[in-house]
Amino acid sequence: MSRSVLVTGGNRGIGLAIARAFAQAGDKVAITYRSGEPPQELADLGVLAVRCDITDSEQVEQAYKEIEAKHGNVEVLVANAGITKDTLLMRMSEEDFTSVVDTNLTGTFRVVKRANRGMLRAKKGRVVLISSVVGLLGAAGQANYAASKAALVGFARSLARELGSRNITFNVVAPGFVDTDMTKVLSDEQRADILAQVPLARYAQPEEIAAAVSFLASDDAAYITGAVIPVDGGLGM
Ligand code: NAD
Repeated sequence: MSRSVLVTGGNRGIGLAIARAFAQAGDKVAITYRSGEPPQELADLGVLAVRCDITDSEQVEQAYKEIEAKHGNVEVLVANAGITKDTLLMRMSEEDFTSVVDTNLTGTFRVVKRANRGMLRAKKGRVVLISSVVGLLGAAGQANYAASKAALVGFARSLARELGSRNITFNVVAPGFVDTDMTKVLSDEQRADILAQVPLARYAQPEEIAAAVSFLASDDAAYITGAVIPVDGGLGM
């Protein structure tokens, strides 16, 4: 069955791998992206790419209108878009903090709330939020990011309770360190420190995060809601 799927931040990294997996499974996939040009691969896969900054409610509304006109109501939402602005607490400006929260947490609220309009009408829906092992463990220099990612767990679990009777599930995937642009900025020393703590002793590939997301959106996961699934090579256990 071909579902209408939306992946935010689907032009690269983990979001791109998630969009690719759904498209290859035959779903009608839309992605949003904030800047740059989406890769040609997405157009080749028939993926609809819509520019949308999730910190702007009006842009979110416009993106949904465009997606609904082409694919119908979003049935599976993967809230993946996120940013980091790493720095130690005493150097962290209020803007460093609020911009990360506004994207990772409030931006997720904006896209989830808008998707639920159609999901409530359809009396079914799947929402998967991309958090991080850092939201569960904390990390020095990432208090803003960790707070935003931890908050996604409370957000998802509240909605799992609020909307379970409407047949809408809310689950969280908490990746460990994944080979993407977000982690390319780390120094060799930082990478080595991280790998020393990962039982599987390697970074995840984006496709390994996508596999968990595909499962949570599948019929096999129909009775799973409010779950936090780590895909972290054992880092967070
Ligand atoms: P990335 O930087 O490669 O991609 C981030 C995506 O988010 C981009 O598509 C970007 O356009 C989008 N985005 C950022 N701000 C946006 C905004 N205001 N509006 C709309 N889109 C916006 O990062 P990634 O590594 O692919 O990470 C994807 C998600 O996975 C993020 O939420 C990240 O926090 C999370 N994550 C990543 C890792 C990792 O190791 N890479 C680990 C754990 C969690």
